[in-house]
Amino acid sequence: MAKVYDILIVGAGPAGLTAAIYGVRAGRSVLAVGGKAPGGQLMLTTDVEDFPGFIEPIQGPELMQKMRKQAERLGAEFFDDDVIRVNFKQQPFEIETEQKKKFSAKTIVIAVGSAYKWLNIPSELKFKGNGISTCATCDGYFFKGKDVAVIGGGDSAMREALFLSNICKTVTVIHRRDVLKAQAVLQERAKARKNIKWIWNSDVQEFLGENKFSGVKIKNNKTEKGTTIKVSGAFVAIGHEPATGFLKGQLGLDAKGYVVVKNQTETSVPGIFAAGDIRDFRYQQAITAAGFGCMAAMDADSYLQGYRALSEKAGKKNGNKK
Ligand code: NAP
Repeated sequence: MAKVYDILIVGAGPAGLTAAIYGVRAGRSVLAVGGKAPGGQLMLTTDVEDFPGFIEPIQGPELMQKMRKQAERLGAEFFDDDVIRVNFKQQPFEIETEQKKKFSAKTIVIAVGSAYKWLNIPSELKFKGNGISTCATCDGYFFKGKDVAVIGGGDSAMREALFLSNICKTVTVIHRRDVLKAQAVLQERAKARKNIKWIWNSDVQEFLGENKFSGVKIKNNKTEKGTTIKVSGAFVAIGHEPATGFLKGQLGLDAKGYVVVKNQTETSVPGIFAAGDIRDFRYQQAITAAGFGCMAAMDADSYLQGYRALSEKAGKKNGNKK
């Protein structure tokens, strides 16, 4: 008979890996199904300077590798493939991966994180991966010495612009407002770079080019004036959305696709817990994802110990005798 894991974790970014570490440390059998490209957003990040414990900046992939090795040393098993189907309507729960591998578990921690948001304009599709990217660390080198644009005004946009400014001739940041959303330290660093230019209050209307990407058509949303910016590449950095498509119909999701949770980690199905960016549209930091991973594994362990759902307990404490 196929093995039934105590805790199966879907996702191997900071949330999933922390859940794996806490799960095995609680004496549970743990399998993490990490996706075809495990490690999450940090695999595409360079310097991480805000994860406690590292005096000097650590590279995102190195941080993920260390967390994974720690989980493996403690006894967690890994399988790297995308989960495409889940069945949470039976116990043990079941998941199926793209390679048609099926795994069963008594509890599941969903920690699949989020995916890049795109502008979703028709011309974007034409040049995706061929002039337009969402990942400067992956694709920036193709534009060495050239002029590029970054679209967005948050932390991601600043990080992309800073990274690209080391490789490219100029980086033009196009933002829809005249105030950045990014944290002050990143704003200051970007504004201090001489080859980063700024275009404010402007929306991208179209990505231009016949066969080859050649520029961005923008419109100032205050003056209505249209302009064309000639660039060889454009990086869309307008945030992320939860990668929860495969959970539709199985778990409660909100209108934007985030997993609905109560008591921090409990989903609409008892025994299924959520951690990281898929339940957090506010903080979205590696350290908060790791914290949620810890909570989810501890709650899965409590569930396995035969505890009633934490919410029931909390309800009774508050006088709810049902
Ligand atoms: P974000 O904070 O949501 O910022 C998205 C930016 O894109 C905003 O400036 C937004 O404009 C703009 N935008 C959104 N939709 C747009 C659209 N359709 N057209 C044009 N512009 C659009 O996303 P993020 O920068 O990816 O950051 C998300 C979270 O991840 C944050 O909590 C951030 O701190 C975290 N993060 C952390 C790190 C790290 O290393 N610690 C790195 C990257 C990101 P408005 O300003 O007008 O809303």
